Amino acid sequence: MTEPLTVLAVMLRSADYLTTKGVESARLDAEYLLAHVLGLGRLEMYLQHERLLETGELDRFRPLLKRRAQREPLQYILGRQGFRELDSGVGAGVLIPRPETEGLVEVVLTWAEGREGLQVLDVGTGSGAIVLSLLSEGPFATGVGTDASAAALDFARRNREGADLQSRLALRCGRLFETLEPGERFDVIVANPPYVAESDRVGLQAEVVDWEPEEALFAGSDGLAVLREIVPGAVAALRPGGLLALEVGVGQAGPVVDLVGSTGAYDDARVHKDLAGKDRIVTATLAH
Ligand code: SAM
Ligand code: GLN
Repeated sequence: MTEPLTVLAVMLRSADYLTTKGVESARLDAEYLLAHVLGLGRLEMYLQHERLLETGELDRFRPLLKRRAQREPLQYILGRQGFRELDSGVGAGVLIPRPETEGLVEVVLTWAEGREGLQVLDVGTGSGAIVLSLLSEGPFATGVGTDASAAALDFARRNREGADLQSRLALRCGRLFETLEPGERFDVIVANPPYVAESDRVGLQAEVVDWEPEEALFAGSDGLAVLREIVPGAVAALRPGGLLALEVGVGQAGPVVDLVGSTGAYDDARVHKDLAGKDRIVTATLAH
């Protein structure tokens, strides 16, 4: 018979175990997983450090810990990722929305201030985090989210329901602008496209490269392959004066501003930084 273990002992052992597997935030992740199994918040669990775990609780915890030891992202195991005011459902098949992308939403909301009844297109919507946030936080009437991945759209659909936005958001499966109807135009086109260069694959964490969808991450040898299609493609789908807002990788803002300029269709190209001070977002408006 194994002796019963306290919450604290399980936490410490699990953190050590995850550390040996190369997990960066081992202690925190062990806490999240255990709190999840116990149905407690992390802080609530602190008040129960000395409590003995029941066998059933340990049995439910072990497989989750094992998944994390295999470097599956914590968010896939818990099935959730917070994004601005949303609690987004995520899992295998969809990119976990990133904090940088909350900044992209912020830039669009700032532009949208004082306007009303806007229509937005989110290209490569993934879990739907961007467009759902815009619809719930800003002066947007309706939105369209497109994605080439049916698996990703399954998450977007569930998240749309979670946010109670079924009547205002259409989700369509297809490449970039392919699913737009002739003459369909938007006030805002926003995208966080795949922008990782193939050559940067080796530098990515196991959680990203081994678990998140390829098609959400990589875009050719320089990472610009999809941005090269979106920038000219958006011209025919924006209203005059409408905003194009793109998340880009480190070092890509300059080339993307050049792409914007080369169409001759946009005004006012701007680069915005993320919280880490990196050039992360490019915006431009369609010329009148
Ligand atoms: N917008 C989500 C977010 O910010 O969390 C997901 C962004 S993820 C970096 C890029 C998304 O674009 C993925 O969901 C991927 O399936 C989709 N995608 C990649 N290439 C595409 C293409 N050519 N047409 C449509 N969607 C594409
Ligand atoms: N920011 C993601 C990463 O670092 C990449 C997402 C993207 O390509 N849009 O892996």
